[in-house]
Amino acid sequence: MSVDSDKDIDIMYGLRTVLSQVEKAVAVRSKDLPQIIPRLVAVSKIKPVSMILEAYEGGQRHFGENYVNELADKASDALILAKCKDIKWHFIGHLQTNKINKLLGSPQLFMVQTVDSQKLADNLNKQWSKYRKQEERLKIMIQVNTSGELAKSGISPKEVTQLVEYILKNCPNLEFSGLMTIGQYDYDVSKGPNPDFLSLIQCRQEVCENLNIDIKNVELSMGMSSDFMHAIELGATTVRVGSNIFGARPPKLN
Ligand SMILES: *Cc1c(COP(=O)(O)O)cnc(C)c1O
Repeated sequence: MSVDSDKDIDIMYGLRTVLSQVEKAVAVRSKDLPQIIPRLVAVSKIKPVSMILEAYEGGQRHFGENYVNELADKASDALILAKCKDIKWHFIGHLQTNKINKLLGSPQLFMVQTVDSQKLADNLNKQWSKYRKQEERLKIMIQVNTSGELAKSGISPKEVTQLVEYILKNCPNLEFSGLMTIGQYDYDVSKGPNPDFLSLIQCRQEVCENLNIDIKNVELSMGMSSDFMHAIELGATTVRVGSNIFGARPPKLN
């Protein structure tokens, strides 16, 4: 795969294409699913601030980053602060304890999608009281390792309900917003619905039944450039799309 040089990328074209594909997928989504318009998170990892400015000017508001230092630097960038007052940052990478303060101190942090342990939830809950404005709770999702691959972060599907219950009871500064999965990268959709997405849907069902939560209040963050339409058809409420908007990344930095 060739890596396009950044200046050859037409971000507006990519953004418009993805948004129209989101609409198409919504139109064929089952009417039994919560009819939530999916949120597009534009994943800007390793891409320059200039590209984020361009996407923001084109109307994009939600952006995702995998590395704490990179999110913190971009969120604090003078141009971003001046021109992107309504930007919303999502953290979608593995979060180490020693980076929590740096992450929580980042301007316009909107959500942490990758909570996968009680310890991390406790730490975020404790630290957020230092950073939050007024009564605002920190939105979080729980990352589920639906594919069981050892290299992937995330809690196992059977432990999800317990972690949600723990957060609801013990983490008053956190707002449980949903479940997130990465899943297999190379799943062939011609074989049927992606089992990772089905697993996340099943986790939500269990969480809602066991804890008596309205399904409309539990988001599903699933789907990336290669499969976001498929994910939306199955009920994704947040999709995380990078290369289709900002161009390909060098393979090892995926
Ligand atoms: C990089 C990344 C994405 C976006 O991947 P693309 O294939 O470029 O759309 C989405 N989610 C996570 C967690 C990622 O790390």
